[in-house]
Amino acid sequence: MITENLKKVEENIKEACARCGRDRSEVTLIAVSKTKPVSDLMEAYNAGIRVFGENKVQELCEKMEQMPKDIHWHMIGHLQKNKVKYIAGKVDLIHGVDNQALAEEINKRAEKAGRVQDILIEVNIAHEDTKFGVPIEELDDLYVNISEYPYVNVRGLMCIAPNVDDPEKNREYFVKLRKKCVDINNNLSNNSRVDVMSMGMTGDYLVAIEEGATMVRVGTGIFGKRDYEIT
Ligand SMILES: *Cc1c(COP(=O)(O)O)cnc(C)c1O
Repeated sequence: MITENLKKVEENIKEACARCGRDRSEVTLIAVSKTKPVSDLMEAYNAGIRVFGENKVQELCEKMEQMPKDIHWHMIGHLQKNKVKYIAGKVDLIHGVDNQALAEEINKRAEKAGRVQDILIEVNIAHEDTKFGVPIEELDDLYVNISEYPYVNVRGLMCIAPNVDDPEKNREYFVKLRKKCVDINNNLSNNSRVDVMSMGMTGDYLVAIEEGATMVRVGTGIFGKRDYEIT
């Protein structure tokens, strides 16, 4: 089933890229494997997947130990400061950074690990009370402050769009995030550039790709429904 699902997702991504004149290589598919057993991850691995996303530190670390070593692990969920030490310098990308204290802790732990940690700043793009992420009005300040840390590299922005029936409803938010990336690159006299946009999940990843997503995080569409929901 997972192999079949992956084929379908891959076809969908190719078609979406073709629709908007993008190259397939511009979009990284992150297989979101939270709550799923290692056997499921191995099926995806054997079908060619090398980028996995998890949202719980302990679960991520356990799976990292059990899975092959050529995998890129992404921490996609809300990260507590006291858990940073377990993953800093070990994961390829931390998606959900939304405050300076967390970035400071990542900087400290990454320095200890002797590695610069790539991160994304999470934006609460639709101002939802239930979501983490920095309000877009506060993003510029946070970006500037986090950019000061030598062991933290802000690669781009991430958002979790609202849970909607019709993905078209989220198009405006994806546009908003892309415009924000362009703004940052144009306005801030910083020598680094943000070029990653992590946006789009099972329900809306095709619209996200049409609006410029460079990473899509697909769980249910690959692994099927989760038995229990971890938020
Ligand atoms: C669970 C999760 C996903 C994947 O959600 P699906 O709807 O199952 O594709 C993507 N991003 C984040 C941050 C998640 O927590």
